[in-house]
Amino acid sequence: MGSNADRNLLTCVNCGRIYSDEVLICPICGWLTIFKYSNRAFRVDKAEPGIWRYRSVLPKVDRVVSKGEGLTPVNNIGGVLVKNERYNPTGTYSDRASSVIASYVLSKGLTTIRTKFEEDFTYSLTYYLIGVSSIEVVVGDPLSLDYLDVDILLRAGNVKLIFDENEKASLLGYTSPLTIEGLKTIAFEIYERRLRVERVVVPARTGLLAYSIWKGFRDLEDAGVNASYEVVATSIKGMGNPILPEFAKSIKLVEISRDEAFDSLVKLWKNGVKTKPLSASAYAIAENMGNSVAVVTMGFRPLSAGRRTDKGVRKEIIRILEKSGGATAYEVWKVFPAYSLRGIYKVLESMEEMGEVCSDFKSRGKRKIKYYRVC
Ligand SMILES: [Zn+2]
Repeated sequence: MGSNADRNLLTCVNCGRIYSDEVLICPICGWLTIFKYSNRAFRVDKAEPGIWRYRSVLPKVDRVVSKGEGLTPVNNIGGVLVKNERYNPTGTYSDRASSVIASYVLSKGLTTIRTKFEEDFTYSLTYYLIGVSSIEVVVGDPLSLDYLDVDILLRAGNVKLIFDENEKASLLGYTSPLTIEGLKTIAFEIYERRLRVERVVVPARTGLLAYSIWKGFRDLEDAGVNASYEVVATSIKGMGNPILPEFAKSIKLVEISRDEAFDSLVKLWKNGVKTKPLSASAYAIAENMGNSVAVVTMGFRPLSAGRRTDKGVRKEIIRILEKSGGATAYEVWKVFPAYSLRGIYKVLESMEEMGEVCSDFKSRGKRKIKYYRVC
Protein backbone atom coordinates (compact mmCIF):
# COMPACT_ATOMS: atom_id res chain seq x y z
CA MET A 1 0.00 0.00 0.00
CA GLY A 2 1.12 3.56 -0.61
CA SER A 3 3.74 4.96 -2.93
CA ASN A 4 7.37 3.91 -3.04
CA ALA A 5 8.30 6.87 -0.88
CA ASP A 6 6.16 5.33 1.86
CA ARG A 7 7.92 2.02 1.76
CA ASN A 8 10.02 0.80 4.60
CA LEU A 9 13.77 1.10 4.04
CA LEU A 10 16.25 -1.09 5.86
CA THR A 11 19.99 -0.93 6.27
CA CYS A 12 22.42 -3.63 7.42
CA VAL A 13 23.95 -2.95 10.87
CA ASN A 14 27.24 -4.37 9.66
CA CYS A 15 27.87 -3.33 6.04
CA GLY A 16 25.40 -0.47 5.73
CA ARG A 17 23.86 -1.74 2.48
CA ILE A 18 20.36 -0.41 1.97
CA TYR A 19 17.41 -2.56 1.03
CA SER A 20 14.23 -1.16 -0.33
CA ASP A 21 12.04 -4.10 0.53
CA GLU A 22 11.43 -5.81 3.83
CA VAL A 23 14.76 -7.65 3.94
CA LEU A 24 15.12 -8.57 7.60
CA ILE A 25 18.57 -10.17 7.33
CA CYS A 26 21.38 -8.85 5.09
CA PRO A 27 21.81 -11.42 2.30
CA ILE A 28 25.49 -10.42 1.94
CA CYS A 29 26.80 -10.62 5.51
CA GLY A 30 24.00 -12.36 7.38
CA TRP A 31 23.62 -9.59 9.95
CA LEU A 32 20.40 -7.93 10.97
CA THR A 33 19.04 -5.04 9.00
CA ILE A 34 17.40 -2.14 10.80
CA PHE A 35 14.60 0.18 9.73
CA LYS A 36 15.88 3.49 8.49
CA TYR A 37 13.76 6.62 8.34
CA SER A 38 14.24 9.77 6.42
CA ASN A 39 12.11 12.88 6.36
CA ARG A 40 9.93 11.63 9.17
CA ALA A 41 8.77 14.11 11.80
CA PHE A 42 8.37 12.84 15.37
CA ARG A 43 4.77 13.21 16.47
CA VAL A 44 2.80 11.79 19.38
CA ASP A 45 -0.61 10.50 18.28
CA LYS A 46 -2.41 10.15 21.57
CA ALA A 47 -5.45 8.58 19.92
CA GLU A 48 -3.42 5.58 18.73
CA PRO A 49 -3.29 2.51 21.00
CA GLY A 50 -0.21 1.45 22.97
CA ILE A 51 3.16 2.09 21.37
CA TRP A 52 1.43 3.21 18.16
CA ARG A 53 1.22 6.73 19.56
CA TYR A 54 4.72 6.91 18.00
CA ARG A 55 3.51 5.62 14.66
CA SER A 56 5.21 8.52 12.85
CA VAL A 57 8.59 6.85 13.50
CA LEU A 58 7.60 3.17 13.37
CA PRO A 59 7.51 0.85 10.35
CA LYS A 60 4.59 1.48 8.03
CA VAL A 61 1.89 -1.11 8.56
CA ASP A 62 -1.66 -1.16 7.27
CA ARG A 63 -3.14 -2.72 10.39
CA VAL A 64 -2.14 -2.46 14.02
CA VAL A 65 -2.29 -5.12 16.75
CA SER A 66 -2.06 -3.55 20.19
CA LYS A 67 -3.04 -4.87 23.60
CA GLY A 68 -2.17 -1.78 25.58
CA GLU A 69 1.61 -2.32 25.74
CA GLY A 70 3.93 0.54 26.63
CA LEU A 71 3.47 3.74 28.63
CA THR A 72 4.94 1.92 31.60
CA PRO A 73 5.36 3.96 34.79
CA VAL A 74 8.57 5.42 36.16
CA ASN A 75 8.78 4.44 39.84
CA ASN A 76 11.15 5.69 42.47
CA ILE A 77 12.44 2.52 44.13
CA GLY A 78 14.78 3.27 47.02
CA GLY A 79 15.89 6.55 45.47
CA VAL A 80 16.52 5.13 42.00
CA LEU A 81 14.26 5.86 39.05
CA VAL A 82 12.99 2.69 37.45
CA LYS A 83 11.11 2.46 34.19
CA ASN A 84 9.15 -0.59 35.20
CA GLU A 85 8.42 -2.88 32.28
CA ARG A 86 6.38 -5.20 34.44
CA TYR A 87 3.35 -3.08 33.58
CA ASN A 88 3.00 -4.54 30.11
CA PRO A 89 0.18 -6.96 29.22
CA THR A 90 2.23 -10.13 29.72
CA GLY A 91 4.58 -8.50 32.20
CA THR A 92 7.64 -7.93 30.01
CA TYR A 93 8.96 -5.46 27.46
CA SER A 94 8.65 -8.24 24.86
CA ASP A 95 5.06 -7.05 24.40
CA ARG A 96 6.35 -3.94 22.62
CA ALA A 97 8.16 -6.18 20.13
CA SER A 98 5.16 -8.52 19.79
CA SER A 99 2.90 -5.60 18.92
CA VAL A 100 5.15 -4.61 15.99
CA ILE A 101 5.60 -8.22 14.83
CA ALA A 102 1.87 -9.03 15.05
CA SER A 103 1.02 -5.82 13.16
CA TYR A 104 3.55 -6.75 10.48
CA VAL A 105 2.17 -10.31 10.23
CA LEU A 106 -1.42 -9.04 10.00
CA SER A 107 -0.56 -6.37 7.43
CA LYS A 108 1.33 -8.86 5.26
CA GLY A 109 -1.50 -11.37 5.54
CA LEU A 110 0.80 -14.13 6.78
CA THR A 111 -1.22 -17.08 8.07
CA THR A 112 1.63 -19.00 9.73
CA ILE A 113 4.91 -17.83 11.16
CA ARG A 114 7.83 -19.80 12.54
CA THR A 115 9.74 -18.70 15.60
CA LYS A 116 12.35 -20.17 17.91
CA PHE A 117 11.30 -20.93 21.48
CA GLU A 118 12.53 -18.06 23.66
CA GLU A 119 10.43 -18.23 26.83
CA ASP A 120 8.94 -14.84 27.79
CA PHE A 121 9.24 -13.55 24.25
CA THR A 122 7.44 -16.60 22.84
CA TYR A 123 4.67 -16.39 25.44
CA SER A 124 4.19 -12.73 24.60
CA LEU A 125 4.18 -13.34 20.85
CA THR A 126 1.66 -16.18 21.11
CA TYR A 127 -0.62 -13.87 23.06
CA TYR A 128 -0.37 -11.14 20.44
CA LEU A 129 -0.91 -13.52 17.53
CA ILE A 130 -4.19 -14.96 18.82
CA GLY A 131 -6.65 -14.42 15.99
CA VAL A 132 -3.86 -13.15 13.71
CA SER A 133 -1.88 -16.19 12.61
CA SER A 134 -0.79 -19.59 13.76
CA ILE A 135 2.71 -20.05 15.10
CA GLU A 136 5.17 -22.88 14.69
CA VAL A 137 7.41 -22.76 17.73
CA VAL A 138 10.70 -24.47 16.97
CA VAL A 139 12.26 -26.27 19.89
CA GLY A 140 15.94 -27.13 19.45
CA ASP A 141 16.19 -29.47 22.39
CA PRO A 142 13.06 -31.09 23.81
CA LEU A 143 14.90 -31.60 27.10
CA SER A 144 14.99 -27.82 27.56
CA LEU A 145 11.21 -27.73 27.83
CA ASP A 146 9.41 -28.42 31.03
CA TYR A 147 5.83 -29.55 31.04
CA LEU A 148 4.68 -26.08 32.04
CA ASP A 149 6.16 -24.56 28.90
CA VAL A 150 4.34 -27.16 26.83
CA ASP A 151 1.14 -26.46 28.72
CA ILE A 152 1.28 -22.67 28.35
CA LEU A 153 2.08 -22.83 24.67
CA LEU A 154 -0.39 -25.49 23.63
CA ARG A 155 -3.20 -23.92 25.61
CA ALA A 156 -2.91 -20.83 23.45
CA GLY A 157 -4.55 -22.86 20.64
CA ASN A 158 -2.68 -21.10 17.82
CA VAL A 159 0.64 -22.86 18.48
CA LYS A 160 2.22 -25.91 16.93
CA LEU A 161 5.39 -27.17 18.61
CA ILE A 162 8.06 -28.41 16.24
CA PHE A 163 11.25 -30.22 17.15
CA ASP A 164 14.17 -29.22 14.96
CA GLU A 165 17.73 -29.69 16.15
CA ASN A 166 19.04 -27.19 13.64
CA GLU A 167 16.76 -24.46 14.99
CA LYS A 168 16.62 -22.88 11.56
CA ALA A 169 17.00 -19.13 11.78
CA SER A 170 13.60 -17.56 11.99
CA LEU A 171 13.01 -14.05 10.81
CA LEU A 172 10.31 -13.43 13.33
CA GLY A 173 12.22 -14.50 16.40
CA TYR A 174 13.35 -12.19 19.18
CA THR A 175 16.43 -11.04 17.26
CA SER A 176 14.73 -9.16 14.46
CA PRO A 177 14.54 -5.59 13.17
CA LEU A 178 10.84 -5.63 14.10
CA THR A 179 11.75 -6.34 17.74
CA ILE A 180 14.13 -3.37 17.69
CA GLU A 181 11.34 -1.11 16.43
CA GLY A 182 9.08 -2.20 19.28
CA LEU A 183 11.68 -1.95 22.04
CA LYS A 184 12.94 1.46 20.92
CA THR A 185 9.62 3.00 21.99
CA ILE A 186 11.02 2.98 25.54
CA ALA A 187 13.33 5.81 24.39
CA PHE A 188 10.35 7.76 23.04
CA GLU A 189 8.50 7.43 26.33
CA ILE A 190 11.53 8.68 28.26
CA TYR A 191 11.80 11.61 25.89
CA GLU A 192 8.05 12.34 25.93
CA ARG A 193 8.13 12.55 29.75
CA ARG A 194 11.22 14.77 29.54
CA LEU A 195 12.82 12.67 32.28
CA ARG A 196 15.56 14.78 33.81
CA VAL A 197 18.33 12.22 33.89
CA GLU A 198 21.55 11.95 31.92
CA ARG A 199 21.54 8.27 31.20
CA VAL A 200 19.39 5.22 30.66
CA VAL A 201 20.74 2.02 32.22
CA VAL A 202 19.66 -1.22 30.57
CA PRO A 203 20.32 -4.86 31.50
CA ALA A 204 21.99 -6.57 28.55
CA ARG A 205 21.98 -10.29 27.89
CA THR A 206 22.07 -10.16 24.10
CA GLY A 207 22.25 -6.36 24.09
CA LEU A 208 19.22 -6.06 21.83
CA LEU A 209 17.25 -3.98 24.34
CA ALA A 210 20.11 -1.51 24.91
CA TYR A 211 20.72 -1.29 21.18
CA SER A 212 17.03 -0.66 20.49
CA ILE A 213 16.79 2.15 23.04
CA TRP A 214 19.97 3.68 21.61
CA LYS A 215 18.41 3.49 18.14
CA GLY A 216 15.25 5.17 19.43
CA PHE A 217 17.31 8.18 20.50
CA ARG A 218 19.11 8.20 17.11
CA ASP A 219 15.75 8.10 15.29
CA LEU A 220 14.64 11.09 17.36
CA GLU A 221 17.81 12.96 16.38
CA ASP A 222 17.20 12.09 12.73
CA ALA A 223 13.72 13.57 13.12
CA GLY A 224 15.31 16.78 14.36
CA VAL A 225 14.58 16.22 18.04
CA ASN A 226 17.33 16.79 20.59
CA ALA A 227 17.17 13.85 23.01
CA SER A 228 20.66 13.54 24.43
CA TYR A 229 20.60 10.60 26.78
CA GLU A 230 23.55 8.29 27.24
CA VAL A 231 22.78 4.55 27.06
CA VAL A 232 24.59 2.24 29.47
CA ALA A 233 24.32 -1.54 29.05
CA THR A 234 24.95 -3.66 32.14
CA SER A 235 25.99 -7.25 32.41
CA ILE A 236 27.16 -9.65 35.12
CA LYS A 237 30.75 -10.92 34.85
CA GLY A 238 30.87 -14.34 33.26
CA MET A 239 27.46 -14.06 31.58
CA GLY A 240 29.05 -13.48 28.18
CA ASN A 241 29.33 -10.27 26.23
CA PRO A 242 26.25 -8.81 24.65
CA ILE A 243 26.80 -8.48 20.92
CA LEU A 244 24.74 -5.75 19.36
CA PRO A 245 26.21 -2.73 21.21
CA GLU A 246 29.33 -3.38 19.11
CA PHE A 247 27.43 -1.66 16.32
CA ALA A 248 26.69 1.33 18.52
CA LYS A 249 30.03 2.42 19.90
CA SER A 250 28.55 5.13 22.09
CA ILE A 251 26.76 2.54 24.25
CA LYS A 252 28.86 2.14 27.37
CA LEU A 253 29.09 -1.43 28.67
CA VAL A 254 29.51 -1.82 32.44
CA GLU A 255 30.02 -5.17 34.12
CA ILE A 256 29.17 -5.92 37.70
CA SER A 257 30.53 -8.78 39.79
CA ARG A 258 28.33 -11.63 40.89
CA ASP A 259 28.73 -10.45 44.50
CA GLU A 260 27.46 -6.98 43.67
CA ALA A 261 24.53 -8.31 41.67
CA PHE A 262 23.65 -10.62 44.55
CA ASP A 263 23.86 -7.82 47.15
CA SER A 264 21.62 -5.67 45.03
CA LEU A 265 19.12 -8.51 44.56
CA VAL A 266 18.93 -9.04 48.33
CA LYS A 267 18.65 -5.31 49.02
CA LEU A 268 15.75 -5.02 46.59
CA TRP A 269 14.08 -8.06 48.09
CA LYS A 270 14.33 -6.51 51.57
CA ASN A 271 12.59 -3.45 50.13
CA GLY A 272 9.78 -5.70 48.95
CA VAL A 273 10.86 -5.80 45.31
CA LYS A 274 11.38 -9.12 43.57
CA THR A 275 13.38 -9.19 40.39
CA LYS A 276 16.03 -11.12 38.47
CA PRO A 277 19.82 -10.75 39.01
CA LEU A 278 20.40 -9.03 35.67
CA SER A 279 17.71 -6.44 36.44
CA ALA A 280 19.24 -5.99 39.88
CA SER A 281 22.59 -5.26 38.19
CA ALA A 282 21.05 -2.43 36.15
CA TYR A 283 19.48 -1.07 39.32
CA ALA A 284 22.82 -1.18 41.16
CA ILE A 285 24.64 0.62 38.36
CA ALA A 286 21.93 3.28 38.03
CA GLU A 287 22.30 3.83 41.78
CA ASN A 288 26.12 4.05 41.62
CA MET A 289 26.26 6.35 38.62
CA GLY A 290 23.40 8.57 39.76
CA ASN A 291 21.33 10.80 37.47
CA SER A 292 19.97 7.68 35.76
CA VAL A 293 16.83 5.76 35.00
CA ALA A 294 17.06 1.95 34.98
CA VAL A 295 14.86 0.09 32.48
CA VAL A 296 13.89 -3.15 34.20
CA THR A 297 11.11 -5.54 35.10
CA MET A 298 10.64 -5.16 38.83
CA GLY A 299 8.18 -6.54 41.32
CA PHE A 300 7.46 -9.63 39.29
CA ARG A 301 5.90 -12.29 41.46
CA PRO A 302 7.02 -15.70 40.27
CA LEU A 303 4.20 -18.19 40.29
CA SER A 304 4.73 -21.43 42.12
CA ALA A 305 5.31 -24.52 40.04
CA GLY A 306 2.20 -26.28 38.85
CA ARG A 307 0.15 -23.10 38.81
CA ARG A 308 1.91 -21.26 36.05
CA THR A 309 -0.84 -21.88 33.53
CA ASP A 310 -2.47 -18.83 32.05
CA LYS A 311 0.68 -16.90 32.90
CA GLY A 312 -0.12 -14.09 30.49
CA VAL A 313 -3.67 -13.83 31.78
CA ARG A 314 -2.55 -13.66 35.40
CA LYS A 315 -0.09 -10.88 34.70
CA GLU A 316 -2.70 -9.00 32.71
CA ILE A 317 -5.21 -9.37 35.55
CA ILE A 318 -2.70 -7.90 38.00
CA ARG A 319 -2.08 -5.04 35.62
CA ILE A 320 -5.82 -4.35 35.27
CA LEU A 321 -6.33 -4.44 39.03
CA GLU A 322 -3.35 -2.14 39.61
CA LYS A 323 -4.63 0.34 37.05
CA SER A 324 -8.25 0.31 38.17
CA GLY A 325 -7.63 -0.06 41.89
CA GLY A 326 -10.12 -2.95 41.99
CA ALA A 327 -12.60 -4.75 39.77
CA THR A 328 -15.25 -7.46 39.84
CA ALA A 329 -14.67 -10.79 38.08
CA TYR A 330 -17.19 -9.66 35.47
CA GLU A 331 -15.26 -6.43 34.82
CA VAL A 332 -12.04 -8.41 34.48
CA TRP A 333 -13.69 -10.90 32.14
CA LYS A 334 -14.78 -8.12 29.75
CA VAL A 335 -11.09 -7.59 28.95
CA PHE A 336 -10.61 -11.26 27.97
CA PRO A 337 -13.17 -12.07 25.30
CA ALA A 338 -11.32 -15.30 24.47
CA TYR A 339 -12.04 -16.71 27.93
CA SER A 340 -15.27 -17.86 29.47
CA LEU A 341 -16.52 -15.96 32.51
CA ARG A 342 -16.23 -19.22 34.43
CA GLY A 343 -12.59 -19.51 33.30
CA ILE A 344 -11.81 -16.03 34.64
CA TYR A 345 -13.54 -16.86 37.95
CA LYS A 346 -11.32 -19.92 38.26
CA VAL A 347 -8.15 -17.96 37.54
CA LEU A 348 -9.12 -15.27 40.07
CA GLU A 349 -9.93 -17.91 42.69
CA SER A 350 -6.60 -19.62 42.30
CA MET A 351 -4.77 -16.28 42.33
CA GLU A 352 -6.50 -15.45 45.59
CA GLU A 353 -5.50 -18.82 47.05
CA MET A 354 -1.91 -18.08 46.15
CA GLY A 355 -2.04 -14.62 47.66
CA GLU A 356 -1.58 -12.84 44.37
CA VAL A 357 -4.82 -10.93 44.66
CA CYS A 358 -7.06 -10.04 47.62
CA SER A 359 -10.77 -9.34 47.66
CA ASP A 360 -13.34 -7.23 49.51
CA PHE A 361 -17.11 -7.30 49.50
CA LYS A 362 -18.98 -4.10 48.81
CA SER A 363 -22.73 -3.62 48.78
CA ARG A 364 -24.39 -2.55 45.63
CA GLY A 365 -28.07 -2.09 46.47
CA LYS A 366 -29.13 -5.26 48.24
CA ARG A 367 -26.41 -7.31 46.68
CA LYS A 368 -22.93 -7.91 47.94
CA ILE A 369 -20.36 -7.68 45.20
CA LYS A 370 -16.90 -9.16 45.39
CA TYR A 371 -14.13 -6.83 44.30
CA TYR A 372 -10.65 -8.09 43.54
CA ARG A 373 -7.59 -5.93 44.08
CA VAL A 374 -3.82 -6.29 44.31
CA CYS A 375 -2.87 -7.16 47.90
ZN1 LIG B 1 25.42 -6.51 5.41
